[in-house]
Amino acid sequence: MNGATLKLIDLRSDTVTRPGAAMRAAMAAAEVGDDVYGDDPTVNRLQARAAELFGHEAALFAPSGTQTNLIALLTHCQRGDEYIVGQEAHTYKYEAGGGAVLGGIQPQPIAHQADGSLALADIEHAIKPDDFHFARSRLLALENTFGGRVLQPDYMKAATELVHRRGLATHLDGARICNAAVKLGISLRQAVTGFDSVSVCLSKGLGAPVGSVLCADREFIGRALRWRKMLGGGMRQAGILAAAGLYALEHNVERLTEDHENAVYLARGLSDVAEIKVDLPETNMVFADIPAGKCSRLAQALGRKGILATVEPQMRIVLHLDVSRADVERITAAFKEFFGG
Ligand SMILES: *Cc1c(COP(=O)(O)O)cnc(C)c1O
Repeated sequence: MNGATLKLIDLRSDTVTRPGAAMRAAMAAAEVGDDVYGDDPTVNRLQARAAELFGHEAALFAPSGTQTNLIALLTHCQRGDEYIVGQEAHTYKYEAGGGAVLGGIQPQPIAHQADGSLALADIEHAIKPDDFHFARSRLLALENTFGGRVLQPDYMKAATELVHRRGLATHLDGARICNAAVKLGISLRQAVTGFDSVSVCLSKGLGAPVGSVLCADREFIGRALRWRKMLGGGMRQAGILAAAGLYALEHNVERLTEDHENAVYLARGLSDVAEIKVDLPETNMVFADIPAGKCSRLAQALGRKGILATVEPQMRIVLHLDVSRADVERITAAFKEFFGG
């Protein structure tokens, strides 16, 4: 086979999924209006559907998960407030410090446990007393899935109840909450129980090209709307994008199971290679330890086979809508050929 004719397999992230023919047809057929006037019927339908699925009163469509998380921080917290968050959480580490830069909101990061959770004792300890020396502890932000791992419902319940008792609010960065729900075999609504606001990415494993939704109560979403406008997230005939999101919620949630099964299948294949140490994946991400001295040559070898991956000593391989079981066979074969196994 010639490299140019091979289908490219992109394992860098589940953000790389491209809209397929049926999703594009839904986008092309979308009824639109000016969403800043609240006139776009497709955006309104997406927001209503997301609210219903996640068990909240209302929802807001925005261009990215970075923006829905930031809107949530700005809506929950005032200048001088503080939010408790994981040291490796997306909201804290990978969103350019937006809450601090734009909201004057101080993050209080705490270390993760081995399973990705934040220890309840650490959360409790991080809540500051009401004293003018301190920022006001206002919010706990958790993330599920976190590094491909699923936080368990009883943990989420305990953590949200703990901070609610102490007067804090709760936000879930549920960029991949659908992966968690499908893995746990629970409804989306059950998966977000206990959270006052939830951000969900439509553009990851769900396969939409753009967009996230923020779900919360009606009063919160009313205030969030002003922040979205201020951040430049008010879009006009956004129904074209919302149609993709609606299609994703209707058709691409249950199928995430296939990505999880492909991840396990790939991990099993890679575990045949003596030089690779691989963990059993919980959702759509495989983490493999690659000998540091071989990373760049492995990246090149995979590239020659039409496989795009971020090869690092702690390598993350992400399965998604555009990677089939046959593609997984190709990936496994490419690794085995390179390692001679
Ligand atoms: C991708 C992601 C986001 C949002 O990212 P955008 O690229 O801005 O949509 C937020 N949280 C987590 C955990 C993510 O993986």
